[in-house]
Amino acid sequence: MEYLRRRGKKVTDERLDILREVLMADSHFEAEDLLIRMRQQGKRVSKATIYRTLPLLIEAGLLRQSFRAGEKQTYYENTLGPKSHEHMICRNCGKVIEFTSADLEHALEAVTEKYQFLAERRRIEIYGLCADCSSFYEEDQEAPEPTEG
Ligand SMILES: [Zn+2]
Ligand SMILES: [Zn+2]
Repeated sequence: MEYLRRRGKKVTDERLDILREVLMADSHFEAEDLLIRMRQQGKRVSKATIYRTLPLLIEAGLLRQSFRAGEKQTYYENTLGPKSHEHMICRNCGKVIEFTSADLEHALEAVTEKYQFLAERRRIEIYGLCADCSSFYEEDQEAPEPTEG
């Protein structure tokens, strides 16, 4: 919160509550999930405040966008969890698999080095069908149409 203060942002009770909730989350969440969780705890918080506060927490390095599901759903996770993992998202059941790969890291390093690019952040999202869903559809011989967006 020092960060926000230094930037001349008001640190309101609402924002502190949001920060607390964000830091307590142990997996991916949407802005909407935060709202629901906080309301359940009887906290007074507006959707607008959540949407305004999340970008500040990202700027402060406390939060990051993990992946998108659908057109409008953006999932976040706090930066206390395992660092630099990537996501595979099943478009059928919505399962999210987190993975890390040393090979991938090396490949990315090689690429950024090649272009002398100073990488600051990145996001790798792989969409498709998880093992359960893809085997299910193989038996059926009928995969669902990819849902756009
Ligand atoms: Zn699945
Ligand atoms: Zn994650």
